[in-house]
Amino acid sequence: MLYNEGVGWRWVFSSALLANFGRSVLPLAEKVFCALFPDDCRVCGEPLHEISRIPVCSRCLRQPTAIAADYYCTDCKTPFLNRFPLDEQGRCTMCRLGLTGFDTVYTFGSYEDTLRELIHLFKYNQVRPLARPLGALVARAIPREHRFDLIVPMPLHWRKRWARGYNQSELLAKEVARRWGVPVGEIVRRVKATAPQAGLSNSKRRLNVSGAFRIRKGANIKGLRVLLIDDVLTTGATASACAKVLKRAGASHVAVAAVARTDRRITLERSGTP
Ligand SMILES: [Zn+2]
Ligand SMILES: [Zn+2]
Repeated sequence: MLYNEGVGWRWVFSSALLANFGRSVLPLAEKVFCALFPDDCRVCGEPLHEISRIPVCSRCLRQPTAIAADYYCTDCKTPFLNRFPLDEQGRCTMCRLGLTGFDTVYTFGSYEDTLRELIHLFKYNQVRPLARPLGALVARAIPREHRFDLIVPMPLHWRKRWARGYNQSELLAKEVARRWGVPVGEIVRRVKATAPQAGLSNSKRRLNVSGAFRIRKGANIKGLRVLLIDDVLTTGATASACAKVLKRAGASHVAVAAVARTDRRITLERSGTP
């Protein structure tokens, strides 16, 4: 055992120590792996003991919990602190005015804490194998009785996709499709390289993404029930613009599903505290 500054006590290769410690705790292959390729969980920093392509411990992977709210819009599922923004049918102003473009939304958790860290690793740090556990969370958020004909990933502009090497929403869509046996269709193109949405007001976000999407030539989605998959939902402006294009092309129903959504109740509460 060695002491590393900033890391603490950790196991390094020592056959006698490992033999005693690991005989009943770790299988031989994992013991060798830990000794040869020691690594820490990228979320909590604890040493990893399992062989996995995901550099996150199983405790952190199990940690995200489903979003819970007392009040939320029946259509877009936006959570609210009280029932006042909702009408008699339980809809928020955006849904009441028909501005969303989609029919319903399913999201698993809040975009914070461990779930936020996992999405960051998946989206910005090339940890593609996280598609499987994160895709499982998307699938869990969607009621099984709902049937879909086609799963469509939220497209990236080609320059962004080229720089990242993959489209994270496409990996999530494939994971949901694999579980349900529903085809994936990359039928939407992002034709406008939009500025980042962060920091823009609701109306500016809508303007920013207007005209950003086109249906690919030859795609026929008339009468189909479409599930549009994204990684994170913030105000829903991007999902809304994409859903509108799908509806205009003839989709009979467009549901949006994402791993997480920005819980603006938290922002409100936090900004309200001194
Ligand atoms: Zn961890
Ligand atoms: Zn709503």
